[in-house]
Amino acid sequence: MKKLNIIVALGLMTLGLASCQDGDWDNEINDTYKIGNESIVEHNVVKIKDLKETYKQAILGQGMKYSNNAVQLIEDDIQVKGVVVTNDRGGNLSQCIIITDDSNENIQISIADNDIMTYLPIGQEILVDLKGLYIGGYSETPIIGYPNEKYAGTVDKNGNAIGSQIYRMSFMSRYLWYKHFKTIGKPDASRVPAAIELTNSLYDDELTHVSKLVYVDGKFASCDGNTKIADPKKVESTDTGNGVNETFNGTKCTSSIIVRTSTYADFASSLIPAANVRMYGIMTRDTYKKGYQIQLRDADDITIHCDGCNAYVGSTKWTRNEDGDYVCNKCNTKVKKI
Ligand SMILES: [Zn+2]
Repeated sequence: MKKLNIIVALGLMTLGLASCQDGDWDNEINDTYKIGNESIVEHNVVKIKDLKETYKQAILGQGMKYSNNAVQLIEDDIQVKGVVVTNDRGGNLSQCIIITDDSNENIQISIADNDIMTYLPIGQEILVDLKGLYIGGYSETPIIGYPNEKYAGTVDKNGNAIGSQIYRMSFMSRYLWYKHFKTIGKPDASRVPAAIELTNSLYDDELTHVSKLVYVDGKFASCDGNTKIADPKKVESTDTGNGVNETFNGTKCTSSIIVRTSTYADFASSLIPAANVRMYGIMTRDTYKKGYQIQLRDADDITIHCDGCNAYVGSTKWTRNEDGDYVCNKCNTKVKKI
């Protein structure tokens, strides 16, 4: 009960911030909300795989010349039921969760909320009422959320807008979200599928593997041992997302992989190891290069193999010695720097 009070208090503290938003959000703000809607009754549950197929045109719409088709209102009275694969823990994948179901496909749900991890931990099953929410794509990543109506294309050198008003997938308000989901049972992290190995073949036109947890062996291009995972100095001025791209070369991928990390991530200043690593993370697509982009969940998604432990050990569980080599904190096995 105490925990619930804290959650509600956090929610109330952010009311002031949320009221700065325009449009529909104002109507949804009230101080009597509950996180989750117990009155939702399970019916018309569709598989995530089938949902993605039904709305494929919207999901791929952004790729089709930024047309308005990139966002579609879900008008059918349908639901999805899935288990939380990842949430905003770690601060890199912020304002979203990713869920999976027994169709073995995943979808991202974008919510303008903080500390989602406190009420939707990894392994928590949820039921989501989709009617009234929007579905679409962001760089071909399927997303359930709400459209951003203000995005008006780009401007020319005279400051004139080019192109028409367009709609892109964005976050739904937390108050809308609280009405559209309920939790089922207790969280069980063992229900989250194990990471699959990232190879060229995961890139398919059916978007089967987008948003899945993957792993890949290889090394970072910047593996000098002094490079931050997300150095704020590397944010490009045109980048509104405060993300930093580092390049990773996977041994089984023909093209390099972008590792995109927010400078707001809790682990942004952690150093990339000067070692061959196994990297875990959420896979999305680099639609320009027809390659992969990975989002780390935390610094320990970058692992070094320890022969002593016979396991891949997270990068924060090693200490560098005076030679720059890595020593396992648990068993003192040494891995030479590369
Ligand atoms: Zn060890």
